[in-house]
Amino acid sequence: MLAIQDLSKTYNTGDRALRGVSLSVARGQMVALIGPSGAGKSTLLRCINRLVTPTAGSIRVDDVDMATLNGRTLRHARSRIGMIFQEYALVERLTVLENVLSGKLGTMPLGRSLLRRYASADVERAVRLLTEVGLASQFEKRADALSGGQRQRVGIARALMQDPALLLVDEPTASLDPKTARQIMRLIHAAGEERNLPAKITLHDVPLAQLFSDRIIGLRDGLIVFDGAPTELTDDRLTEIYGEEDWNATVDTDGENASDNREESRHRLDALEERIDV
Ligand code: ADP
Ligand code: MG
Repeated sequence: MLAIQDLSKTYNTGDRALRGVSLSVARGQMVALIGPSGAGKSTLLRCINRLVTPTAGSIRVDDVDMATLNGRTLRHARSRIGMIFQEYALVERLTVLENVLSGKLGTMPLGRSLLRRYASADVERAVRLLTEVGLASQFEKRADALSGGQRQRVGIARALMQDPALLLVDEPTASLDPKTARQIMRLIHAAGEERNLPAKITLHDVPLAQLFSDRIIGLRDGLIVFDGAPTELTDDRLTEIYGEEDWNATVDTDGENASDNREESRHRLDALEERIDV
């Protein structure tokens, strides 16, 4: 479904963000991408939908090599890749419904997209998706009137509106409180599972990554240093990914013992899971 071979990216500043990354993701697999700040996680996602042009390597999405496309073929291929962002990237002055409908823009003739006229089938679909993400009564609200969690729900519905073949999600919960973060992750997980979509999600929160993914890839300095099941991610492996001190920061600690903190964080999340009903 998604196959990346020897991918590297050197920015024109000289930053070597990726140094030969190879991996493949099967249909329906939820992959969490973790690693310290600057490891190359966002660059990897952005290479996949070609927001960033790779320096070398290939990226096959359903047998189309994203690395070499351009012009109209690139726009078409990109329209099948749903992207969800940390900062939501909504159009503030548009309504919730219009934001979701904008997910269709990539595949519409320019004239129609400028006029913002949509087929009624698209409107019905957007309404269905908004109901699915729990915003059934908020269609007419402007995006700038929503809470962070609601904004991310719009972001998810907009990505699903594209009828994506693949979901790319960059730090979807980084601006949210823990309870909302968990609801959003659960929603992304359910949406992907229901559609048998592969998803690649960068996450700062290690316990959240462990809870909501089938596989975890650890990136450090542009290289894959871990690729395995969430249960294989021991403290030693985390130290390899994050370095001696850094990964403490991923579970919101005051610099106490990392293992205790992770344990505590898990308990906290377990307690939350019992209370939250999404
Ligand atoms: P992460 O998402 O894991 O924090 P990034 O992919 O954002 O990592 O960054 C990886 C490296 O590439 C960093 O050294 C960063 O400074 C550099 N980088 C990211 N984006 C750009 C850019 N647009 N121009 C130059 N360097 C960049
Ligand atoms: Mg990033």
